[in-house]
Amino acid sequence: MIDALPEKGVPADQILSELRGLRSADLPTHGGRLFAYVYDPAVAGLDELARQAYALSASVNGLDPTAFPSLLAMENALVGAAARLLGGDDATVGSVTSGGTESLILAVKAARDAHPSIRDPRLVVPSTAHAAFAKAAHYLRVGLDVVPVKDLRADPSLISAAIGPDTVLVAASAPSYAHGVVDPIPAIAAVAAAHGVRFHVDACFGGWILPYLRRLGADLPPFDLSVPGVTSISVDLHKYAYAPKGVSILLHASEELRRPQYFAYADWPGYTMINPVISSTRSGGPIAAALATLRSLGDAGYLELAAATREAVGILADAVTAVDGVRLYAPPETSVVCLASAGVDLFVLADELAARGWHTQPQMAYRELPPTIHLTVTASVRDTAASFASDLSDAVAAAEARGPVQVPDLPPLSPEMITPDFIAGLAAGLGLGGGDFSRMAEVNTLLNAAPPALREALLTGFLSLLQRPAQGA
Ligand SMILES: *Cc1c(COP(=O)(O)O)cnc(C)c1O
Repeated sequence: MIDALPEKGVPADQILSELRGLRSADLPTHGGRLFAYVYDPAVAGLDELARQAYALSASVNGLDPTAFPSLLAMENALVGAAARLLGGDDATVGSVTSGGTESLILAVKAARDAHPSIRDPRLVVPSTAHAAFAKAAHYLRVGLDVVPVKDLRADPSLISAAIGPDTVLVAASAPSYAHGVVDPIPAIAAVAAAHGVRFHVDACFGGWILPYLRRLGADLPPFDLSVPGVTSISVDLHKYAYAPKGVSILLHASEELRRPQYFAYADWPGYTMINPVISSTRSGGPIAAALATLRSLGDAGYLELAAATREAVGILADAVTAVDGVRLYAPPETSVVCLASAGVDLFVLADELAARGWHTQPQMAYRELPPTIHLTVTASVRDTAASFASDLSDAVAAAEARGPVQVPDLPPLSPEMITPDFIAGLAAGLGLGGGDFSRMAEVNTLLNAAPPALREALLTGFLSLLQRPAQGA
């Protein structure tokens, strides 16, 4: 247990060695064997450069660009680069945010506040859209209309039918996080424009790699601001731009479209607050680190990294196709490999892969979709992909030998029954007390069987159980 406020200060080398000790329990952020959460280009020296840039600007406050013009210049540079990459023109403007979720919340806020006369504004998304849209709708009290997809892709005619007089925004993905599939952006843009409704393209995941994949010859539709009817687009620099965490960009096709994104308040005794984004005080560290990363890699660097990623995706997808017991679930058209079961228990398989050093992301069943395993593929995987096939084959054999997991018999549960005591008992029963999350098949099987509202309650309860103040030493 760590005491964050010791009676007397602790020497620097001791603090750093404690931090290294803590970090050693984490999944490996480098090495091409982690297929979610982190994006690794495996470029020598890049981490060190980003760290130095981060340190230079860590204490700078983005609250006031007149006090810290360095940050304004860096943000304008990042927005300019994103606009060039994503089909912007002279009218394009944008903001630097802390992440994809913030970019999406702000896109929804701008659309909502552009229509003060609509009392119950609504947002239309395909069912494959990122959960951050549901969060935005929830935070902003905007109604959410979720439209079914066809073959994992948004359906323009169903979206058109879902647009009503209170719709302030339509959104779609390029590509979707879960499956890596690109929605038909031009057709949806045409539909939104015909209704006079804003259309946001969520390219948080793929915005920094799709342009390069297209340049490399991938058969992907146009998806950016060059498509008539696209009014805004978001791209996370902490994903395929390989910047350290905490930077995303939200672009609008014009200043007029961006205006309602701002919050301004002069009616108090302190400074007039003008915020383009959700945070007020914010660190310059992530922004400087992102700029350093972009300038170091350059356009040519990103093209090479996209080629490496594409090669890795091909190798992994071939492995999935070749191994009995699993199958490709979605076309590997971008940087995701998504597999489903063809006989094996997927949650046991995920544990068996983890035991062999491959950390994947299980996805639960959703409506008519089966459970799947998601692999976010980054450039570092090109060096490890060749050894995946034999480990996948071994892991499938081991999972078949183990058989499906047995889960504890629980009475029928409803979200109200999930009390802190119930969660504590369940966690102990599943062996989660010790902080070892390497064998998750039982937990995942249990969650997979739970309807979404129950799953939400179980996981909220569990996170709340983990998040308890540490006692002093
Ligand atoms: C990651 C992601 C988001 C959310 O981004 P965060 O940076 O995690 O807040 C939104 N949409 C898509 C498609 C994503 O992949």
